[in-house]
Amino acid sequence: MIHEILPVGLLQCNCSIFGDEATREGLVVDPGDEIASILEIVRRHGLTVKAIVITHAHIDHIGGAARLKQATGAPVYMNLNDEELKGMLDVQASWLGMQPVEAVETDAPARDGDKLLVGAAEFLVLHTPGHTQGSISLYLPSESKLVAGDTLFRDSIGRTDLPGGNPRQILRSIHDKLLPLPEETVVIPGHGDATTIGREKQFNPFLEGLA
Ligand SMILES: [Zn+2]
Repeated sequence: MIHEILPVGLLQCNCSIFGDEATREGLVVDPGDEIASILEIVRRHGLTVKAIVITHAHIDHIGGAARLKQATGAPVYMNLNDEELKGMLDVQASWLGMQPVEAVETDAPARDGDKLLVGAAEFLVLHTPGHTQGSISLYLPSESKLVAGDTLFRDSIGRTDLPGGNPRQILRSIHDKLLPLPEETVVIPGHGDATTIGREKQFNPFLEGLA
């Protein structure tokens, strides 16, 4: 499976571009910004984007989704618990001193247990609320990878002081949905370096006593 990680925008959100080598089907997670660079990667691999997945409706993760959807025609998958947050993109832009962005229509709900197919590879949607109410993580068992959005970071967890955040809920999500995954699972967080489930179980100070 093709997998490129491109940090985009002011807050360097990790945008993931996946592609199946055989079918050239592609999937883009969190196109926050820098859509020209994302499209360049898509074209370089000869991919047809089949789905745009939003881990949560913070502007640094969703800001470029409308433009990517226009360019590719691909449907947008997002958990509907983040629709309200998506309706506040102007407010979010003002928090960051950013220019307002165009809101994108959600085409399909990303619900816990949903499966997205890219070639033969299965992406499993895990609803992991706490950073926001609609936060999801994407688990790709065939590659032992987890795209965690802003739920789990290397040595940290997502902030819960923004609207829709809940500190107890994010720990419950991590405990119930992420820590049971195989320890060798590579975690691609929404920002910063990749890690593994095993490493975070052992060293993440926010998860002490949780595993
Ligand atoms: Zn966020």
